Amino acid sequence: MDLGIAGKRALVCASSKGLGKGCALALAREGVHVTMNGRTAETLEAAAEEARAAGASEVRTVCCDITSEEGRAEALEVAGDLDILVNNAGGPPPGDFRDWGHEEWLSALNANMLTPIDLIKATIDGMGERGYGRIINITSSSVKSPIPTLGLSNGARAGLTGFVAGVARQMAAKGVTINGILPGPFDTDRLRSGIRYAAEQSGVNFEEEFEKRKKTNPAGRYGSPEEFGALCAFLCSAHAGYINGQNIVIDGGGYPGTL
Ligand code: NAP
Repeated sequence: MDLGIAGKRALVCASSKGLGKGCALALAREGVHVTMNGRTAETLEAAAEEARAAGASEVRTVCCDITSEEGRAEALEVAGDLDILVNNAGGPPPGDFRDWGHEEWLSALNANMLTPIDLIKATIDGMGERGYGRIINITSSSVKSPIPTLGLSNGARAGLTGFVAGVARQMAAKGVTINGILPGPFDTDRLRSGIRYAAEQSGVNFEEEFEKRKKTNPAGRYGSPEEFGALCAFLCSAHAGYINGQNIVIDGGGYPGTL
């Protein structure tokens, strides 16, 4: 299926590894001009090489912290006029809510709520004027089903989701959609560090906990960044213009609700 987005311009934040990289590579395969981002130059350049090999007609890189004002300004400058924005950043650390003060909360809100809001604000009117825009927010299945040790993530991402629900309805007539993708467990560094934390808390070894959790998912496995990227690319496609303001869980069926 031709997704109809060859030649479009995308900024994929936090895309040197994991889910963001999965999105960047999937867009690259469709011939999108991709700007990739991460804080570590070596992994970022290696990921950009993969995107070039995957078919992107042009790949730019911005090595910066996307949660900083300067980082965002640099990313927007390098990426140019955008048709596609994929918001992503590292997730907040796990822990006990009793240990978190304002500093921890402000850091989580900055990374996982205010940063995507700033980037949406900076790009959405240009998309509207050009008549095409796809904004994807990578959030978490915790928006629908909170994870007790990830309270900072539960709170910040729910805030972003609430804000975006209103904006999505204001821009649809101009050809701009905003959707959230809510990952369940995907095999990335982030997942592994979370499992390491849980294993330490309960005094078991990492491999045991990793295998045990895998089996609790209805699919009997973790998701891959490639399948996450494929969903992202479809939501960015020319065919997805009528999918707007949605929060799509991709978790192997882990969320136990009927709807
Ligand atoms: P990951 O494998 O750890 O990859 C994170 C990527 O983001 C890396 O490329 C990292 O590179 C980059 N990054 C992190 N902070 C950044 C920043 N401030 N500025 C620019 N780049 C940054 O994580 P992931 O599993 O792909 O997770 C992506 C998001 O999805 C996170 O918010 C995570 O909480 C959420 N999520 C993941 C899962 C899962 O199962 N994997 C489930 C639910 C939600 P550098 O460190 O070099 O900057």
